[in-house]
Amino acid sequence: MTAQIIDGKAIARSIRKQLKTEVTRLRQEGTTPGLAVVLVGDNPASQIYVNMKKKACKEVGIYSEEHKLAANISQGDLFSLIDRLNADQNIHGILVQLPLPQGLNEQEVLERISVTKDVDGFHPVNVGKLVSGFDAFVPCTPAGVMEMLTHIACDISGKKAVVIGRSNIVGKPVAQLLVNANATVTICHSQTKELEEECRAADILVVGIGRPEMIKRDWIKPGAIVIDVGINRVNQAIVGDVDFHQVSEVAGWITPVPGGVGPMTIAMLLRNTVVGAQSSK
Ligand code: NDP
Repeated sequence: MTAQIIDGKAIARSIRKQLKTEVTRLRQEGTTPGLAVVLVGDNPASQIYVNMKKKACKEVGIYSEEHKLAANISQGDLFSLIDRLNADQNIHGILVQLPLPQGLNEQEVLERISVTKDVDGFHPVNVGKLVSGFDAFVPCTPAGVMEMLTHIACDISGKKAVVIGRSNIVGKPVAQLLVNANATVTICHSQTKELEEECRAADILVVGIGRPEMIKRDWIKPGAIVIDVGINRVNQAIVGDVDFHQVSEVAGWITPVPGGVGPMTIAMLLRNTVVGAQSSK
């Protein structure tokens, strides 16, 4: 079997096109969706992500502003900026790029962002709403994963889903969204015994661990849907957590890296910002 590719780049492009139409409509009604991105310190990878987000905003007509702060900024000064953005009527989404430099309390910073502008979906109130099955900002990467499953018309209900990784950004919210969609979900992590066995049971396998090409061909149930969230730099190349060449011989569907989940994450950020603008009216 050769897996069909889930082309995140193409799906994200079509989502951006739809969003552009909605942004045009909102602008005609006098509301320009606005995103504020806060970057603390000079982590080069973070700067690349921020630049990609700003470029995507521009493409669909979302106003964006970047606030670049020194790594040694005090938490109080960072809070003052967030408070100002919370009150700014031109801003509908606030994103503090993670990770934060040492000395800043990530949880307190995320909690400072207004729940209604929390386009990353990391505020505990939005996390709680997601768990309760209420409307909330959903974290962008997990939302992108679900959008890809929708795109291939995957009937998630009753499927056995296995999520490897339990971070607040990827693994836990993905697992929750899959539960909300009626999958039977197993969450695996570094302490899981018999990881290969767990994987082999999966109709839907989502991997977000940060281990280059760790998931191999014989871990996969023939025909399974494999979503690779991992982004790993190996020499000069970017590879996922799944051994794409091996696994694509067995899986039914697979996401490439790059060009899979990555572009979807940014598209979901844009969507959340547009939703923030719609809700502000
Ligand atoms: P974290 O480091 O926060 O979490 C990694 C998770 O993987 C942990 O739960 C850890 O288990 C688990 N894990 C690590 N090693 C193993 C192993 N050998 N076997 C089983 N489980 C293991 O990473 P993130 O969740 O932030 O990111 C994961 C990957 O996704 C990274 O490659 C990251 O770059 C990528 N990513 C991609 C995005 C995109 O847009 N495509 C967005 C965000 C992240 P434990 O909890 O026990 O330590």
